[in-house]
Amino acid sequence: MSLGAILKLRCSRCLEGEVYLPGRWFAMHDVCPRCGLKYEREPGFFLGAMYVSYTLGVLIALPVSATLFFKYDVGAGLSAFAGSILTAVATPWIVRVSRVAWLHFDQRLDPR
Ligand SMILES: [Zn+2]
Repeated sequence: MSLGAILKLRCSRCLEGEVYLPGRWFAMHDVCPRCGLKYEREPGFFLGAMYVSYTLGVLIALPVSATLFFKYDVGAGLSAFAGSILTAVATPWIVRVSRVAWLHFDQRLDPR
């Protein structure tokens, strides 16, 4: 598992092949263009990426909301709303990164 490869959206086995098709936000290669690793190991494989995306969403929203609430004394509702908006804006990035992170997590647990 390589944080650099995850952030660059690269293959979990060779760390070089692109996971997503160029110019497309959510369309993935079926297999790694470099090493041939099949990305979607089984139907529903990427459901596990939801755990990662939820965690990333919380990690993005919580510091913003907590800072607004505790440091700037903004109301709880407005603080939560600001964190939610920020997470909503970051969602396309979160989806892409969480799928790749899930690939790397799976590769670590069960190398193929
Ligand atoms: Zn690869």
